[in-house]
Amino acid sequence: MNISKQVQDLSRKLPGKIHYEYDMRRLNWFKLGGPAKVFFKPDTLEELVFFLKNFSSNLPIKVLGVGSNTLIRDGGYDGVIIKLGKYFSHLSKLDDNTVISGSSVLDRQLSNFALENSIAGLEFLFCIPGSIGGAIKMNSGCYDHDISKCIVSIQVVDCNGIVRTIKSEKINFFYRGSDLSDDLIFLSGTFKGKKQDGKKIKERMKKLLAFKKKSQPTGVKTCGSTFKNPINQTQKKAWELIKEAQCENMKIGDATISEKHSNFFVNQDSATSNDMENLISLVREKVFNTTGIKLELELQIIGEKE
Ligand SMILES: Cc1cc2nc3c(=O)[nH]c(=O)nc-3n(C[C@H](O)[C@H](O)[C@H](O)COP(=O)(O)OP(=O)(O)OC[C@H]3O[C@@H](n4cnc5c(N)ncnc54)[C@H](O)[C@@H]3O)c2cc1C
Repeated sequence: MNISKQVQDLSRKLPGKIHYEYDMRRLNWFKLGGPAKVFFKPDTLEELVFFLKNFSSNLPIKVLGVGSNTLIRDGGYDGVIIKLGKYFSHLSKLDDNTVISGSSVLDRQLSNFALENSIAGLEFLFCIPGSIGGAIKMNSGCYDHDISKCIVSIQVVDCNGIVRTIKSEKINFFYRGSDLSDDLIFLSGTFKGKKQDGKKIKERMKKLLAFKKKSQPTGVKTCGSTFKNPINQTQKKAWELIKEAQCENMKIGDATISEKHSNFFVNQDSATSNDMENLISLVREKVFNTTGIKLELELQIIGEKE
């Protein structure tokens, strides 16, 4: 059965939840990219599992959080993009120092929830603009904290619709990633902190946020750090290497580099994904020619070139 026919058939059972050729520009921080062939926004786990069990095609499936670390190419995504809806934005306290968060909860919402319950250790999430699903995938972090240090377990569903729980001991987290399969959709995470006075937690959150605002741009179309810090090759951070290679003023079309943080690339207004990707390649080449270090992407790039 062809894809649009399948989409039509499934749409009858899941009205309003599945779209064909869906505009993705609103769903990522760069505000860039072509359409997703199929876009699915399940509101419940039942809908998600139903879709996974009944949509039969060879199309790849990708889940998006809030797209704060994802560049979608101009030719769009020739596959299925899933964005988790209402059911996946729950937050609850399990015990004195443990909380469970759905994957579509924003990092700062989880951080605030921990504060409300006097649980310390999740303050760093207050300054990261993504969702919990994206944070688990990226092992997101800042200021010496990351997801691996506070996660206890995650609940996942695979592409066959099978739901299971994976304990953190079984996951090998590393800098901005883990060995979890790309086929897994994260449904929720259980996070553990330490009981502490709320005032102290709030102070730390404020301090971290102030530090962030000082060093990183706000209110611009960016997806955060473009490259990972090359921790095994040099002490220098990616932004320092970019500065050293004198790339800060480089631009292609409206794709530029932030004046405040040279590892943050910015869509000034009318850049294309192709402009952004070409700028990324150019910077990487210049950094390599100047410093001998090959920068690795932190930014996730998906889709087809036009
Ligand atoms: C201004 C700014 C500052 C930033 N600062 C930081 C920082 O300090 N530290 C840091 O680590 N990052 C930072 N980032 C990057 C980004 O916010 C994080 O990587 C964030 O965790 C990504 O979450 P997201 O929901 O936007 O993920 P997306 O960009 O939507 O997706 C990222 C990846 O996660 C996968 N994914 C998302 N949800 C799920 C799910 N439910 N199941 C399976 N896979 C999923 C996607 O397929 C993709 O591969 C910053 C970004 C910006 C724009």
